Amino acid sequence: MCEVVLETRVDYFADLREELAKYIDDEKLEQVAKAYEYAAWAHRNQKRLTGEPYIIHPVAAAKILAEMHMDYQTIMATLLHDVIEDTEVSKEDLSDKFGDDIAELVDGVSKLTQIKFETRAEMQAENFRKMVLAMVRDIRVIIVKLADRLHNMRTAESLPRKKQRLKALETLEIYAPIANRLGMHRFCVELEDAGFKAYYPLRYRILHNAVKTAVGNRSEIVKVIENELTDALKNKNINLVKLYGRQKHLCSIYQKMKVKKASFAEIMDVYGFRIVVNSTDDCYRVLGIAHNLYKPVPARFKDYIAIPKVNGYQSLHTTLFGPYRVPIEIQIRTEDMENIANNGVAAHWIYKEGSPEHTDAHYRAEQWVRSLLEMQQSSGSSIEFIETVKIDLFPDEVYVFTPRGDILELPKGATPVDFAYAIHSDIGNSCVAAKINRRLSPLSTPLVNGQRVEIITAPGACPNPAWLNFVVSGKARSNIRHFLKSQQHVESIALGKRLLKKAMKDFGSDLDTISDKALMAMSSLLGYDNFEQLAEAIGLGNQVAQVIAKRLLSGDSSLAELAENDSQSSDKPLLIKGTEGMVLHFAECCRPIPGDLIIGYLRAGQGIEVHLESCKRTSRLRNNPERLLNLMWQGDVKGDFLTDLTVEVRNQRGVLADIARIIAESGANIDNIAVKPGDGTYNVVDLTLAVHSRDHLAEVMRRLRGIHAIARMYRSKS
Ligand code: MN
Repeated sequence: MCEVVLETRVDYFADLREELAKYIDDEKLEQVAKAYEYAAWAHRNQKRLTGEPYIIHPVAAAKILAEMHMDYQTIMATLLHDVIEDTEVSKEDLSDKFGDDIAELVDGVSKLTQIKFETRAEMQAENFRKMVLAMVRDIRVIIVKLADRLHNMRTAESLPRKKQRLKALETLEIYAPIANRLGMHRFCVELEDAGFKAYYPLRYRILHNAVKTAVGNRSEIVKVIENELTDALKNKNINLVKLYGRQKHLCSIYQKMKVKKASFAEIMDVYGFRIVVNSTDDCYRVLGIAHNLYKPVPARFKDYIAIPKVNGYQSLHTTLFGPYRVPIEIQIRTEDMENIANNGVAAHWIYKEGSPEHTDAHYRAEQWVRSLLEMQQSSGSSIEFIETVKIDLFPDEVYVFTPRGDILELPKGATPVDFAYAIHSDIGNSCVAAKINRRLSPLSTPLVNGQRVEIITAPGACPNPAWLNFVVSGKARSNIRHFLKSQQHVESIALGKRLLKKAMKDFGSDLDTISDKALMAMSSLLGYDNFEQLAEAIGLGNQVAQVIAKRLLSGDSSLAELAENDSQSSDKPLLIKGTEGMVLHFAECCRPIPGDLIIGYLRAGQGIEVHLESCKRTSRLRNNPERLLNLMWQGDVKGDFLTDLTVEVRNQRGVLADIARIIAESGANIDNIAVKPGDGTYNVVDLTLAVHSRDHLAEVMRRLRGIHAIARMYRSKS
């Protein structure tokens, strides 16, 4: 295969070959050997920063995966992972020599390598998107990339300081979370610690030494507990695979200290043990024996065997009071579970080489990646996408029940709205209320483990934009956004048609007399595919109804003269109901309510902005008369409208409570309240109220005047 013979022929492959021989047959091993020869030849003139031959790096990365018993193709791809990127070898060359599978894998890894994580958020998001797409094609691409990164981080010390920090940051922010999400715990831990060490070398060293001392001090107790547990299990004839004291990794200790503000002593005070046995049955028996030996800490028991984590992790967790009342955390699992806990999605290839059967971890990883793909299709921009994905990368989940008793896992902080969308997007879109443990609760309530959640839907209900402020799952977020976008589409078409109808009437004509053909012609003249698109553009304020109307009537298609000479003298007001939805906005500067004299302004891309006729800001808007719109409230407007009321009040005990009570008694709602301290005798209270109309507001104000402490009160329109 390889014609060029290296002069000083050190066999860097020997160790790896030995490792591979443990689980790969001879025929496949020969193919791997060929891949090694080829890679060694391709990299023959390259050296690592340490001065060693370059081939050491791909071999070391391959060894990491061989120790996990990854399949031979992945090992071959790992050996070859840098040849496309760093040598003159092409993807076609690899195809010819090793087949399409290997070539695709190496090509996928090279594409990931080309991704540079720039500081600009958009760039990073775009890159991350590419990475996800690469994973969708073949998750092994990511596994090779992770092994590559792991070896580079193990040897990061030879890099210049600045580059070390950059690589460390990438590792901590992108690669370690991905390893975690794919259930590859061992990778995740080592990546995190290496990243931590390279990013904060001093903190790492201090913590490292502190842990070493602490472990030394604890070894006595650890021995005692190990012996007591082992004896107890042996007495009950449990077949023990292994039992050992667990050590938290440095990065997680550091994060706990930082995020949970726990002291080093608090964290180190907990003694961790892992017990591995042969069967699931034994796991529960061990649990019983342990609870019999030491008293369990209430509410700290978790059954991840019955309810695995999203990344496929399974284990029993319990916390006990050990000898001398020291807290002990015990994890109990089978060997299979241990393998999946350590290797996650990679465990699939380890056990099931050649067979298409999927492990749970693998199945879940695939599901996750597929849901990412869905999200990326429905999200508008890369930034939006990475926002939703980041939530999913840190899976701290809660488990809740449907009314039928099914278990649903949701990210921590999830609300009934997240729950509704997790069941089905239609349920999410039409949910109006929720019962948590049979009691009506606000849709924004964060859910807690074990709750039973029931969603109440109503036909015709639709998502509220405010939900975006509290939903936490990517699925809910992208569905709500998607719905709102299409909703706005429908509403702006309706408004556009109304505006055009009205404009035609102002010119003494009728839209209905215009033929479909003429409407279509006008639409395509302006670059729209159909009349609906034109109507949408009018509704969104991107086209002016009067101009379109005039052109339709005159049949004139020259753009020049149209905008200027139209007087709006015949302009009859457009009636609004307040239910026009997302194409109608009430300006916050003056907050008009039904009964007020109002005026509209067509803001490009947004629809109508409603102002008080007397609003100071409209004087500027009057510079664009073609965008101004004469508006009037329809006679029977219903609903709540926000308006601002300022109250100057004597500093007197209980006066705020009085104000709130009277407002509530008048049937209005307080949407917001801010108290500005005045001169000590008087305070200024800014209220945002939800009222039905001007009359309603007048009634509220009349009642408030009954409070003697109120010195002055006025509607604020600034
Ligand atoms: Mn590499």
